[in-house]
Amino acid sequence: MKVTEHINKAKDTLFSFEILPPLKGQKIEDIYNVIDPLMEFNPPWINVTYHREEVIYKRLPNGLLEQKTVRKRPGTVGICAALQYRYKVDTVPHMLCGGFSKEDTENALIDLDFLGVQNIMALRGDSMKNERFFAPEADGHQFAKDLVGQIRGMNEGQYLDEDLKNSSKTDFAIGVAGYPEKHFEAPSPNQDIEYLKEKVDSGADYIVTQLFFDNQKYFDFVDRCRAAGITVPIIPGLKPIATKQHLSFLPHFFKVDLPDALVKAVVDCKDNAAVRQVGVEWGIQQAKELKAAGVPAIHFYSMGRPDNIVGIAQEVF
Ligand code: FAD
Repeated sequence: MKVTEHINKAKDTLFSFEILPPLKGQKIEDIYNVIDPLMEFNPPWINVTYHREEVIYKRLPNGLLEQKTVRKRPGTVGICAALQYRYKVDTVPHMLCGGFSKEDTENALIDLDFLGVQNIMALRGDSMKNERFFAPEADGHQFAKDLVGQIRGMNEGQYLDEDLKNSSKTDFAIGVAGYPEKHFEAPSPNQDIEYLKEKVDSGADYIVTQLFFDNQKYFDFVDRCRAAGITVPIIPGLKPIATKQHLSFLPHFFKVDLPDALVKAVVDCKDNAAVRQVGVEWGIQQAKELKAAGVPAIHFYSMGRPDNIVGIAQEVF
């Protein structure tokens, strides 16, 4: 079933979460161990992130550096199929513009369609670590809205080979990313919303937000989206803070601010066990307020650790 169908059917706020594929060489059981404790909260779908290739440098015995391209977390498509089979749950694979030609995208969509996956989260992806700015493949997409357009085209039976006759239509619900605190490359908050509207006009069915720690930022973002004519569901994304290092990692990596009260509570903690507790309590307050406001679902970023999300879900769902 599609995410949008689950939302339309639901009488209350839904619980969802995303997982990362295991690092190459690790077992799929590692992610079952993350998922198992979260299944009691009845997620109608589970997102599986996509991780593009990285360039690494290996020092050779002669002192020179060898450049290698590696994919550290492959397996998104296979994991989605395995989860649907094992847990009888819908899955949402993330797909990127980065690293994909249009033909790679088409082939991946065909695989997902054959596997009975009916949802895609369509994203641009970040630039490679050795690039200053995002660069698409020679025959790839520059922006997520272009990827959305390709997926919508296949939903209408349009494949890259225009000579195909009576081609089968896929039926994917398409999610896209939204940024309550602005995407870091966007020139202004309003322009970012204009670009988000373009993604929706290209065929996106719903939005999932970047994580945030101040609900007011989400509520303001939703108001600005509605004022700009965006009418699709906007699912808030939450991640409980769990370590002191997160105080610098989260703003650096996700380009979000932390409220002063949360920062102070974390700074005052004796150890990371205490930080985890602060993160769970903050997450409970955030999730309760969002649920009371009638959000369609709350999406948790698990980052491979289920225990703090279980702590929040027990109080809220
Ligand atoms: P876009 O919507 O294409 O926007 C990228 C930038 O371009 C923005 O600054 C936007 O304002 C600007 N822009 C858009 N349209 C135009 C235009 N027409 N002209 C000029 N500028 C324009 N990354 C991963 O690698 N794997 C994942 O699995 C993953 N999952 C994510 C899940 C969620 C819910 C979120 C919020 C992010 C996720 N990301 C993931 C990160 C995401 O790939 C990055 O944030 C990326 O930098 C932007 O992706 P986007 O899809 O929002 O891009």
